[in-house]
This record gives sequence, C-alpha cells and structure tokens, in this order.
Amino acid sequence: MDSHDSIQYIKGVGPQRARLFEKKGITDLSSLTYFFPIRYEDRRQISKIASARFGVKEVVIGEVSKVSLKNFKGRSLFEVILKDNTGYLSLVWFNFEYAYMVKRFRTGARILAYGDIRSYAGRPQMIHPDIEEFDLEGDDTLNFGRIVPVYSAIEGIPQRVLRKIMKNALDASITTVHDYLPGLIKQKCILSDLNESLYNLHFPSDDVSLDALNTQVSAFHRRIKFDEFFFFEIALALKKQASLKKDGIVFSMPLPGIKSSKMDYIAALDKSLPFTLTDDQGYVIKEIFHDLATGYPMNRLLQGDVGSGKTVVALYAALLAINNGYQAAFMAPTELLAQQHYTTIRALTAGMDITFDLLKGDTKELERRQILTRLSDGSLNLIIGTHALIQPEVKFHNCGLIVIDEQHRFGVVQRMELKKKGNNPHMLIMTATPIPRTLAMTAYGDLDISVIRQMPPHKKPVKTLLFYKTSQRQEIYGILRDEMKKGSQVYVVYPLIEESDALELMAATKMYEELKKVFKEYKVELLHGRVKNNDRDRIMDDFRTGLVNMLVATTVIEVGIDVPNATVMMIEHAERFGLSQLHQLRGRVGRGSEQSLCILYAHSLTVTARKRLGAMVKTSDGFKIAEMDLEIRGPGEMLGIKQSGMPDFKMASIIHDIDILKLAKDTAFDIVNGNIDLEKQDKDMLYRHLYESDKKAISFIEV
Ligand code: ADP
Ligand code: MG
Repeated sequence: MDSHDSIQYIKGVGPQRARLFEKKGITDLSSLTYFFPIRYEDRRQISKIASARFGVKEVVIGEVSKVSLKNFKGRSLFEVILKDNTGYLSLVWFNFEYAYMVKRFRTGARILAYGDIRSYAGRPQMIHPDIEEFDLEGDDTLNFGRIVPVYSAIEGIPQRVLRKIMKNALDASITTVHDYLPGLIKQKCILSDLNESLYNLHFPSDDVSLDALNTQVSAFHRRIKFDEFFFFEIALALKKQASLKKDGIVFSMPLPGIKSSKMDYIAALDKSLPFTLTDDQGYVIKEIFHDLATGYPMNRLLQGDVGSGKTVVALYAALLAINNGYQAAFMAPTELLAQQHYTTIRALTAGMDITFDLLKGDTKELERRQILTRLSDGSLNLIIGTHALIQPEVKFHNCGLIVIDEQHRFGVVQRMELKKKGNNPHMLIMTATPIPRTLAMTAYGDLDISVIRQMPPHKKPVKTLLFYKTSQRQEIYGILRDEMKKGSQVYVVYPLIEESDALELMAATKMYEELKKVFKEYKVELLHGRVKNNDRDRIMDDFRTGLVNMLVATTVIEVGIDVPNATVMMIEHAERFGLSQLHQLRGRVGRGSEQSLCILYAHSLTVTARKRLGAMVKTSDGFKIAEMDLEIRGPGEMLGIKQSGMPDFKMASIIHDIDILKLAKDTAFDIVNGNIDLEKQDKDMLYRHLYESDKKAISFIEV
C-alpha cells in the first residue's frame, strides 16, 4: 500500500493505533471515513439529576461521590453514586470486573452517563449506563451538546478518541475526496452530496432526525446506500453489455418435413418422452431455442423448484446443439447427481445415435484417458460430469453448449472455467433454489431468467409434520414403521455442518446404529460423504431398487436424487437447517404419485425456529419459502447467494432498501446503455471510481 495512504498519518492515529484499526480492516483514510457509527446518542441536552425524567434516556454529568459492592438477591452488584449540584444518581452494574471498575470510578472523577432513568425506591437509577470520562478542559463539541456518534468498539481506542480521530479524518478527506456522482444524477435521484453525507453520518447537524439516523433512513444514509448498489449495478450493466456482442454460435432449428441425412434428435425426443411436458417446460424450451438462434451467446438462469423437471429441458437444449454438430457438456455438483443424469439421459435417448459418457473424480485412469481423447477429437457428442470437467486436461472438439446444474454449488469462477473450454459456448445455468425476484434482479442482473413454476401433474404436495418433544420420538418411529409396512422407503436425514467433522459423523453413525436396532426387520443403510465411492454407488442402487428400506444419510442426498418410491423423510435436528435447505431436502420425497410425508424433528425450539419450521409446515411453494428465508436470515446467509458473486453490501440492505436498489439499478443501466446522456468526463469519472474502489465488482465483470 502507498505509505501516504496509510492510516497512521492521520492526525491522532500513529503506528500503534493504526495496528488496532487494522484489526478491524480499517487501513486507509477512505475505510476510516466509511467506518460508520452503529448508533447515535442525543446529547443535545445535558440533564440535571433532579430534573431527569423517569423512563426516558438522559445524559447526566456528575462527579463520582461513592462506589460500593453490594449484594442483590444473591448476585453481586457494583454501584456508583454520581452527584451534581442538584442531586444523586445511582449507577448499577451486574456483570463486572471488580478491579477494573474500582480503577475506572475513582471518587471525584467526572463522568458522563447515558441511559434509561429508572426509579429504585423512589430514587433515580441507571442500569448498565454508557459511560464516558468527561474532560472539562476545552470546549468539547464532539462529545456533548450534539447528536453523538457511537461506533462499534475498537479495542484500545475509547469512543472519545475515536470521535476525535474521525473528525480529523473527515477534515482531511474534505480536501481530497471529490464527489464522483455527476450533478445530473444527484439531481435526478435526489441524492445529497458525498462529503456532506459523510460528515453528517459521523457528526449530524442538530436538525437531522435522531430517529432517522438510528433507523438508517436519513438522507445521508440514503446516499451511501445508493452508491453501494449503484456501482455494483454499473458493473452488472457493463457485463451485460459485453455479453450483447453478436458473436455467439447460431443454432438452426430442425425444419419439419425436410429429411436430412442426420437424425433429428429433437423430434426423436418428442416421440420417446414418457410424459407430456408441462406448459412451463414447453415455454422455457421455446425461450432457450430462441436464444440459441439469435447469434448472441446465451446466458440464461433456469429456476425451478425441486422436481419441476429441469433436466429434460436441458436435454432439449443439448440435443439442439448436437443436431447442429456441436458438443454439449452437463456439469453437476455431486457424483451421485452426475450418475443420475447419466442414467436419465441414457434412458431418454435410447434409440438415438448420439454418443455420450460420464466423467467423475473417481473415473479409472484408463477410461478417463479414453473419454478425454474422444472428447477432444469430437467423437463424443455429450459429456456429463462433476467438477472433473474443469480439469485442465479436459479439452473439447467444439463445445457449443454448457449446462450447469444446481449452480449454487459452483462458484462464478468454476462456471467461467468451464465456459472457457468451449468456443464462446451458450450457457444454461439451473437452480432449484428459488431466488426471490428482487434478489435475482440484483445478483444476476446480467443473466436472463426463466422460471418453471408448475409441477408435473402427478405431483402431490408433501405433507409436513413438526415434532419437538423427546417423548414424541417413539410416535415418529411408529409412523415410519407403518409407512414401511405399506412398502414405502424412508430417508432419515442427519445434519452435518462439516462432512469432515469426526464428532458429528459419530453422532450420525450412532443414530444409524440405533435405527438398525429399532427397525430390525428392515434393511437400514448409512450414507455420508466419507462412504467410499463403490459402497456409495451400491447403497444408492440398492435404495433405488428397493432392497434398502431406510436410508440414514447426511445432506449428501440433498440435491437432485430421484427415487419415486421413497415417500417418507424424517429430518433430525430440523432446527439446524436453513429453510431453503429444508425445502431442498423435502424435495427428495414426493417424486412419485403416492402421498408423501416429511417429518421435521426439532430438538430445541426457539421462537424463531418455531416460526421458520411452522412456515415449512404451511407452504410447499419454494418461492415463498425462499422469501421467508431471505427475510429471516438475510441474503448473505441464504443458500446459494454466498457464491453468487454479489458483494456484501455494508450499509444497504436488499430487503429494506428495495426502492433505493430499483433506483440504482435503473439509473446504472440507463447510463451504461446511453439512455441518460452524461458528459464524457462525468462518465469517465464514474468508471474510474468503479475501477479504483470496487475491486470485487471488477473481478466480477472480468470472469
Ligand atoms: P428437477 O427440476 O428437480 O431437476 P427432474 O428434472 O429431476 O427435476 O425431474 C423430476 C422428475 O419428474 C423426473 O423423474 C422426471 O422424469 C419427471 N418429470 C419431468 N417432467 C415431467 C412432466 N412434464 N410430467 C411428468 N413427469 C415429469
Ligand atoms: Mg435436477
């Protein structure tokens, strides 16, 4: 880093404090000025003790007149008596370190206390007030007589010192920071000035509403939030624009009635399909075929709930590529899933003269080499595989289409690695994690989005039951036994946060041992990430064919597994899973025409957990669940969002600031597309700021 930028040169910092700041990720002037208060205190008025109002937050300044250690209902309590020239106020702490408190509250010290005034035996008292040493020297306009910023604690730097440093930093940045947003944009979007906003966020002027500050909706918050969204959206808009180059492969549609020497695989699939496509499937296939014929490279995200039938849609796209003489690749996140796709595709393309194979991490060396050769010399039409497809040795002859299944399991980078292997191939990205529209709009603004909302007709919603008492375990076992008697197969899912965690694995194994005893008359098997590949394939095959009645498994079965006769799922420790993940798991049952059942068993139930799991019982609509998940857990946590390439916005929230987000998105796309006419120098300034400040956005554009 340029040493002049280093934070230690800011007045009041120095090398020692600079290190403390660094621990918080604050390394330069800019990151310091963007270290915003977590809340604001109203210190415009200092109260006299005698006139402090009960039930109201007040600021009081006084002198420590006495400290004592007391006992209150068996707990020790530290009390400081503060006095001013009108009366006495008791300050009380329950959890404290005695030595520290005694040192901090020397008799005669002048301090400021801020907190709720309560009445204790008719006298005013504050419990766990905020305290600051009060410096009588000088005219302290940063800490008193104003709305005062409170920052998240930085070890070793008291709030007062921090405020002073912040003031110096702001004074320094006023001369160096220039507003990169053109006046036209600020006017159009009603945004305040950058420096004015920064200053007011730290030291608000008296006329700013305290409430607006504390709920982060002041005009100054709005400006910073806008910027966060805006530059991310500019990056997306640029990425989208780059993808609009007409340099994609043009696939032509088979012409009905015209016989060619080659087989028409699309017509063949139409004929061999064992079911009728749903309207949504038909519509999405049309959308995709349209994309593939335009000459622009396709970049499409296909969202569809588990079981909505995305695989066959992707197969249509792959067959069109093959019809046109190109290869297609199908990448899935797990070996189980890749294997399953292989089996499905083999069945659906029986009788067609296309060549395809399966490449996994554990494919034997000799076979692997053969596959790689056939792929690079063009004798394979279609390759299905896992991450193994990204390896450098994998080369295509002419890959024209890439399908990525369950995209949330892959990072943006992996996606692009595969894309690079083709000759600017079309991309179809599929996900069963329904992403709420607003979020999709932000995170995937560069992709076109298709949605399958309809389920195939035979699908009945899964019935979901919630249990949360230890005594209910036997009842649950009773239900499982009844279902197995009727011939159903059962999943029991055990949560492992880390597949590699030995302790957790032991818990799952113990569970399995217990179930084996309880259900002696049935065949019970265990499946987790550490089970060897051969065993895993055998267990899955036995489960598929019905030899195994009960499969105890970790979340390795989460994605895409399709066993229609498995109609019951019990989820242990349901409270540990996120809603979207539960929904994914639940999607493993309800694949056949029988009524299916999902039993959520929570081992402890907090209020939020009850709300979340209650939602699972109430609805089976993946989109509704995703929206609830988003609301409860926030976007960063939501399954699939972490790897989406979307930055963690520091201040802005895509839930609470939707309006700002929309404005930022529209404005950004209008600028990039030339619908808002900016002076060249203004536009340059924007792009320069983007490149200088937003490294993350840039890496996002570049992949
Ligand atoms: P997902 O969208 O979760 O990947 P799949 O593609 O695995 O779903 O499809 C789930 C099951 O539904 C498969 O067994 C598939 O053959 C079947 N299926 C797909 N489309 C239809 C349809 N239109 N009618 C009936 N069954 C269908
Ligand atoms: Mg699938």
